[in-house]
Amino acid sequence: MFNDSKNSNISGIISTPPEARENLSLISIVIPLYNEREGLDALFKAISSIQNEISIPMEVVCIDDGSFDNTYEALCLRPEPYIRAFKFSRNFGKEAALSAGLDMCRGDVVIPIDADLQEPPELILEMIEEWKKGYDVVFAVRKSRKHDSYAKQLTAGLFYKLFNFISESKIPENSGDFRLMDKAVVDAIKKMPERNRFMKGLLTWPGFSSTRIYFDRPERFVGESKWSPIKLLGLAANGLISFSTIPLRVALICGILTSSMAFIFAVYVVVRHLLYGDPVQGYASLMTAIAFFAGMQLLALGALGEYVGRVYIETKMRPLYIISKVHEKSEEKNDAL
Ligand code: UDP
Ligand code: MG
Repeated sequence: MFNDSKNSNISGIISTPPEARENLSLISIVIPLYNEREGLDALFKAISSIQNEISIPMEVVCIDDGSFDNTYEALCLRPEPYIRAFKFSRNFGKEAALSAGLDMCRGDVVIPIDADLQEPPELILEMIEEWKKGYDVVFAVRKSRKHDSYAKQLTAGLFYKLFNFISESKIPENSGDFRLMDKAVVDAIKKMPERNRFMKGLLTWPGFSSTRIYFDRPERFVGESKWSPIKLLGLAANGLISFSTIPLRVALICGILTSSMAFIFAVYVVVRHLLYGDPVQGYASLMTAIAFFAGMQLLALGALGEYVGRVYIETKMRPLYIISKVHEKSEEKNDAL
């Protein structure tokens, strides 16, 4: 249960009760796609083989994040009846595509998965078994990052440690967005309206009971990663800033410490001048101190600016994404939502 601030009613978000878990009526798989046309055959072959194994209805919500390789058109031509395709009017980013997928899906359980088969769809069966045991979230965690470069392993490890240290909601190390969520968890996520969407954090924030399963993450089988090191750095910074105000507190603490030291030093300089009448000296230490304090001030201003910038973006209340085309069960709608 949580307090809905818009009206004073307490609205509940209740996860699926244990007895209802045996009669799972719809599974939603959510896939963000950005120029993934080449890999669609393999992707849907893998998904269809799961559907053949479990006789539970399934919908695959595909969000084409403004691809320019005709991914959406290829999706519309596919024979699988469970595909629901939505096309963004431009590239809004994976985070927006995932958010749209969560908004559109209707299943009892929801599983976001990448289009490149780096997250093996066959794990979905294992996830459903865990959900039936009563867990609301089943994280798929990578056993190792042996395919990644040392630099990526190191920076990813550092990021998870730092994030979990400064943020109140913890994300399991080496878990991506691939996880199973009960629809109650998705409903909770949909209550979060912020524009700045760090999905790993948002997906974990609601809490609920969770467990983990482990897998080996293969390399991308076709195409290449859309995340450059710079983009990843931006994502990491965004995650840290959106989920914690600790950088501001660090700036404040540094400010308090340095100004206290500066005060003590000033007393020392004045007393020494009064007692010994020192001639002006210490050019090197003066310059060092000026450069240091100027740097500290810019750092603190920069940290402040990042938060103010986010407040500015939030106040504009722009939509997270715009859907320009919809394809569901062969009926085509082209109205912009
Ligand atoms: N993706 C997206 N929008 C983007 C970038 C990526 O929807 O702007 C999708 C992409 O098509 C894939 C998933 O997000 O399904 C993960 O992308 P990628 O494989 O490039 O990321 P990595 O595995 O390298 O983290
Ligand atoms: Mg990938």
